[in-house]
Amino acid sequence: MGMRRRSGGFLLRVNPILCDGFGHCHELAPELVTTDEWGYPIISPTPVPLANMSALESARYAVRGCPRQALRIERLSEPA
Ligand code: SF4
Repeated sequence: MGMRRRSGGFLLRVNPILCDGFGHCHELAPELVTTDEWGYPIISPTPVPLANMSALESARYAVRGCPRQALRIERLSEPA
């Protein structure tokens, strides 16, 4: 057994049906989430490397802090 490698990336995903559009996630993870003019989150579709621990921590923080449970972290495996 070797060390677990943190390969691949993740995307923070929002369920727009659940989202209330108050933009709390932008306050929790400003480096990952911006908001549109109505306060709905805009999340970059570019995967973030899992090795980016601070971004992953922010994403988890936003997921926990979302009052509507509208956020989730989608893990993406490394392209072959
Ligand atoms: S914190 Fe949750 S409910 Fe609020 S804007 Fe972000 S995704 Fe939507």
